[in-house]
Amino acid sequence: MDVLIVGGGVIGLGSALELARGGATVTVMDRRECGGESSWAGGGILSPLLPWDYLPAVTNLTQLSGRLFPEWVERIADLSGIDPEYRVSGMRVLPPFDAERAVQWCAGHNVRLEKDGDVLWLPDVAQVRNPRLIKALRLALERMGVRIVEQAEVTGIVSTDDRVERLDTTAGSFTAEHYVVAAGAWSKKLLGKQGVQLDIKPVRGQMLLYRAKPGMLQHILLQNGTYLIPRDDGHILVGSTLEDVGFDKATTEEAGAALHARALGMLPQLAQAEFIKHWAGLRPAAPDNVPTIARHPQLENLYLNSGHFRYGVTMAPASAQILTNQLFNREQPLDVSNYKWPG
Ligand SMILES: Cc1cc2nc3c(=O)[nH]c(=O)nc-3n(C[C@H](O)[C@H](O)[C@H](O)COP(=O)(O)OP(=O)(O)OC[C@H]3O[C@@H](n4cnc5c(N)ncnc54)[C@H](O)[C@@H]3O)c2cc1C
Repeated sequence: MDVLIVGGGVIGLGSALELARGGATVTVMDRRECGGESSWAGGGILSPLLPWDYLPAVTNLTQLSGRLFPEWVERIADLSGIDPEYRVSGMRVLPPFDAERAVQWCAGHNVRLEKDGDVLWLPDVAQVRNPRLIKALRLALERMGVRIVEQAEVTGIVSTDDRVERLDTTAGSFTAEHYVVAAGAWSKKLLGKQGVQLDIKPVRGQMLLYRAKPGMLQHILLQNGTYLIPRDDGHILVGSTLEDVGFDKATTEEAGAALHARALGMLPQLAQAEFIKHWAGLRPAAPDNVPTIARHPQLENLYLNSGHFRYGVTMAPASAQILTNQLFNREQPLDVSNYKWPG
């Protein structure tokens, strides 16, 4: 089987890994460099922020990914020689929250939760360091013989009634047996008339980065949508905003100041940390955070793996597995009807 994947973010690269492991000949194409968009910009928390706020379609996918992650990341690290810093650092949730709902949901979903005064403690929440994960994935793929084509922007999908014939790009035309679109926030735009039924759009998220003494913060800290993520070497990420501003990746002073003030309120010692950087990324937003992982309703060799919104890193291994099972006609580990292509 010969597969061309458009989009070299965590979803496209993750899909490539799984397909190549299954024996497919895979090419990944990106209009710039792989991993330069949302997958680089994100925080790398491997759980929905308040998991009890989401539909079963999200929970099923994130819990399957949670089970796959340790082995997935180990494989990537072994192949690449790069440690993506997968760490089970736990998450402390500061009030306000609906404690009763949280306790009930966690009990029903086999998720450990402890109450420590007015703080919720989720000891099993893990994280990964996005830029390292992407770098490791890319290298792992190259070592597996996956072809990576960068600086090639897909500009047209040429099809008959039931099949894609070729992709036109700024680097010429490409053909394959199967095509997978994993172009994040740009997926709908790229698909043009083949994607009119989809509801995937960019939602901007701004992040701040600080350098602190290692150990200043041991766990992920979350309050009212703002989170702090500590890395091994003392870096602390603060995120994030949710802004419906189209394909605009600019940062704003107001958002930076608001994130900084909220983070200081949650961790006053952050005042001693050095401010490093402020950036923004565009999440591929879909309603209720439910992605599409499916074949096109008419074009039998076109697939989509996109719309992972706030949790694309979390959902990457499970989404790749589901996509690969579809291409290879294998049994699925869960009900995938929620991820079908509308229309
Ligand atoms: C601030 C922020 C914080 C986040 N925090 C978390 C978190 O803590 N945990 C979590 O799980 N998720 C988080 N996310 C969400 C997560 O980053 C995304 O869901 C995920 O990265 C989506 O991956 P993707 O591969 O679909 O998209 P992307 O990483 O955006 O990749 C899409 C790729 O497609 C390419 N492309 C687009 N158009 C074309 C074209 N025409 N031709 C060729 N290539 C094209 C782009 O260049 C890009 O490389 C966060 C996101 C942001 C912005």
